Amino acid sequence: MHFHGPVVRPQTDARSLFIEVTVGCSHNSCRFCNFYHGYPFRAAPMSQIEADLKEAKRKYPRTVRIWANGGNPYCLSPQKLASVGRLIRKYFPRAKISTYARVDDVTRKSVEQIRMLKNAGFSDLVIGMECGDDDALRFMNKGYCAADIISAGKKLEEAGVRYRMIYLGGLAGAGNGEACARRTAEVLNQLHPTLLYLNTVSVLPGTRLYNDRDAGRFTEAGERERVQELITLVSELKNPIRLFAAKNTTRFSFFVDLPRDRKKVLAMMKKELAGITDREEMEMRRRRERQRSV
Ligand code: SF4
Repeated sequence: MHFHGPVVRPQTDARSLFIEVTVGCSHNSCRFCNFYHGYPFRAAPMSQIEADLKEAKRKYPRTVRIWANGGNPYCLSPQKLASVGRLIRKYFPRAKISTYARVDDVTRKSVEQIRMLKNAGFSDLVIGMECGDDDALRFMNKGYCAADIISAGKKLEEAGVRYRMIYLGGLAGAGNGEACARRTAEVLNQLHPTLLYLNTVSVLPGTRLYNDRDAGRFTEAGERERVQELITLVSELKNPIRLFAAKNTTRFSFFVDLPRDRKKVLAMMKKELAGITDREEMEMRRRRERQRSV
């Protein structure tokens, strides 16, 4: 199998078969992200993809889930991506293909093109919306705004494509977490993603955000504020959705369905919030300042 960059995927897709479709991220300039630094964006050659599929077919013939690897393979042209989808289907006719997409990878495509890609196998996208706060999105250089997120989600829904979103708490900086959560809920309440990953931002060496923090242009939210931000978001979401949180970024670990589990999960989150001491708040701040990777 060929991999020329990191394999990055949601925790929920860890058991998929990984096939490199692109290397790097076509945007590669979000302020907080260092995933693909040093990996210039390019599409994997079709010959490489086919060689990997042949090898995988021999080794893992029962594969039912495939993760098309790369920062955002969905940025490829509809024609190119459809060829990739058809090639994957040739070897694994029944496998579900999932991949990362940026918001603007979706908005650039028409509903017809998205539907055509669904028929070629790309029926499940994971989108790092991060949040629905325009100021935070602009500062983080995401390259789109809240209205674009809504437009992308509506296009996918019209085309019948399932999609999951990633929320990155703390992006709005100290003092702005609750407002950011409310704005995000306003966006998500107009959409129907199947799953929302709850994460919070890490300020990592080598990123512009790291320099921003050093220079005082960005003040990190503390532990209590991060938890409160997530509580506000979970409280404000109106449409049925599954929520996933993992301890490594949020101090929570859950997989719950809203609205059914809202009361239970909020009670647990509030209990956690009440248990954060001043000492822990200070320790977490120091730990975050020393953090080297996610
Ligand atoms: S956060 Fe996503 S879109 Fe932004 S640079 Fe990183 S991989 Fe690319």
